Amino acid sequence: MTVIAKGKTKKLPLRGMMDNVMEQFNSAADHINLHPNIRKILSITNNEIIVHFPVKMDNGDVEIFTGYRVQHNNALGPYKGGLRYHPTVDIDAARALAMWMTWKTSLAGLPYGGGKGGIQLDPSKYSPSELERITRRFTFALADNIGPEHDIPAPDVNTNSQTMAWMADTYMSTRPPAERTANQHVVTGKPDGSGGLEGRDRATGYGVFLTIKFWAHKSAESLKDKRFIVQGFGNVGYWAAHFLEKEGAHLVAVQDAYGTLHNDDGIKVEDLYNYSIANKGSIVDFPEAKAIPKADFYTTDCDICIPAALGNQITSENALYIKARLIAEGANGPTNVDGEKILLEKGVTIIPDILCNSGGVIGSYFEWLQNRNGELWQLDEVMIKLEKKMRESFNKVYTFSESEAMDMRTAAYCIAIKRIEKAYVQRGIFP
Ligand code: GLU
Repeated sequence: MTVIAKGKTKKLPLRGMMDNVMEQFNSAADHINLHPNIRKILSITNNEIIVHFPVKMDNGDVEIFTGYRVQHNNALGPYKGGLRYHPTVDIDAARALAMWMTWKTSLAGLPYGGGKGGIQLDPSKYSPSELERITRRFTFALADNIGPEHDIPAPDVNTNSQTMAWMADTYMSTRPPAERTANQHVVTGKPDGSGGLEGRDRATGYGVFLTIKFWAHKSAESLKDKRFIVQGFGNVGYWAAHFLEKEGAHLVAVQDAYGTLHNDDGIKVEDLYNYSIANKGSIVDFPEAKAIPKADFYTTDCDICIPAALGNQITSENALYIKARLIAEGANGPTNVDGEKILLEKGVTIIPDILCNSGGVIGSYFEWLQNRNGELWQLDEVMIKLEKKMRESFNKVYTFSESEAMDMRTAAYCIAIKRIEKAYVQRGIFP
């Protein structure tokens, strides 16, 4: 099962995320002969909001934070996408991530555009009450630029249902009394006691798992005894691993921000999850696996690799040594263009981020509908609907990539861009 590539690895300068998304976009736009005017429009973001805001820390000092919200495109509906709290958040990252959301929501057939943002900070340095004040003040600063029918944030890296509960509460508190509860769907990914959707927590990881299952089915293979590795053991990585293990696959290596673990006989996913919860969210020193150097993670012998952490992880530096035959992109932008070229030459299949991790935003759409319609959906109903939508998207991308003899990323982009192009052609450009 191991693919041995010929040739030597080349060290290329690491590209910014924006360079990656633009190269991906332009190569698909060339394939579909995208109208030059629409290429111009989609190459740039609609709005970029940068806010600086003060927050009082636990010790009484005031710290100034910088937050971003980039609204890339809303031709198909309100801007939609997460907010992340991470030191790598900057305008370049927010622009690229917002663009990826535009393609993702379009591909999934949702009535949304794309946006993204966050705050440049390391959340581990702040107490829960500081994070609450930071979130509430950020929401207040963004309040005129978001809204349930305009721009709908959601969780992303280092933000969660608690963050969304604080955001919803703050946003609703700033509205006139009669409008407050009608604004609950200003954010998605809320806790299920506060308008959240049952199953939204597992929606992204389940979607990642489903795309792997669909791939296995098309390749006439079973997931039983397949060996997989996961980078990032947060919401996406954990749930993807959980569902894969249930199908009889084995987690042989895992990496988080603090360490890397390996066990050739398989790491028990629930044991690791319970350990990490008790260990402040870190997998370090888990007794049932061996710690290995960070750089050895991607060279682990396995069938399936799931990058479910940050962008720009698979590059020209490590792509050649990757043993997996399938990369399922749980993260946004984990494979850069140079890394991807090497992988494709080696015959590795990549299920692209805008397809692979779209279960999250599809779950968000269900939550938004639930809130708008004053309904409460059941978990089994959510999972069935999610599977149906993921299957439709996967089949569209797979069929297009086969018929056009192209990789799945380019196919996914072509489908996503064509849908937006159609909206522009029908409506024209104001005035
Ligand atoms: N942050 C997730 C993503 O990158 C979810 C976005 C959403 O639900 O709006 O797709």
